[in-house]
Amino acid sequence: MSGLVHEFSWSASRAANFASCRRRYFHDYYGSWRGWDSRAPQWRRTTYLLKKMTRMPMLAGDCVHRALAEWMEGRARGRTASEEEVTERAIGWLRTGYRESRDGAWRARPAKFTHLAEHHYGEAVIAEEGGRAAEYGGRYRDRIRRCVNQFFALDGLEEARTVDPAAFLALEEMGTIELSGSKVYCIPDFATQVPTSDGRAIRIYDWKTGRPRKADRFQLAVYVLYAREKWDARPEEVTCSDVYLEDGELTVERFDAEEVERVEERIAESMEEMRALHFDADSGDGDSETFPMICDPKSRECATCNYRELCGR
Ligand code: SF4
Repeated sequence: MSGLVHEFSWSASRAANFASCRRRYFHDYYGSWRGWDSRAPQWRRTTYLLKKMTRMPMLAGDCVHRALAEWMEGRARGRTASEEEVTERAIGWLRTGYRESRDGAWRARPAKFTHLAEHHYGEAVIAEEGGRAAEYGGRYRDRIRRCVNQFFALDGLEEARTVDPAAFLALEEMGTIELSGSKVYCIPDFATQVPTSDGRAIRIYDWKTGRPRKADRFQLAVYVLYAREKWDARPEEVTCSDVYLEDGELTVERFDAEEVERVEERIAESMEEMRALHFDADSGDGDSETFPMICDPKSRECATCNYRELCGR
């Protein structure tokens, strides 16, 4: 057995998952545990395989994130790729992912190759006959083009595009901090610091390739806590932005010490709720029934969920 241990941790996305469907939360964080190991029971291996699936909107989003991070890294090495190069790189990854999924490369290595839920469930949008798949793929190629174009065009991103790479603080790296005795995972897409007359200003950017969601501002507040723990930043030094690349919109958010304290309390409450159901997946299988399915089998959640076959939906 590897040195990995099954321990409780928290992240904004894990909390959102917990809130949207407890059964999916069970599959993601408990049922799939050790499913990567060929000696694991078949149900865990199946759950892991389903967990590793993605969908075209997520794959397109990942391609944009990866291409922007690569562009930033290139700047740090003295090379500035053009918008066209960044776009083509991202679309190339989208095409590769689509082919890997369609041709089944993931069967041997689910963690390494793309596996689309659209292919797995034979969804009509991805039928090759009648041009549906081409139309569907074209939608996400266009999305990538618009997102990259806005990254280079938005006035509000001028500083992000031109800041001295020596000032970079974070670039798509997963980091952890500790709150209320548990690990909290964060992945700020991009963070920098710039000197000001009275100290420094920290800017944190979250690239979004989909529509705004209610939870987006909360995620930014978690980054302020991350900045406090990692870079010893006071809340008033930090400005956060959600950048809705497809629509070319950018929010500018500040959080004062009081709001940060409330966010910390909210996280502690969320952890408490999750800990009440937590068990060690190395010591037992748990009872999935204590993580109920959402009631409406026709819900949008179920219609796009990776675990439809386990729930019979
Ligand atoms: S199929 Fe529906 S009930 Fe089952 S895990 Fe997914 S969202 Fe939850």
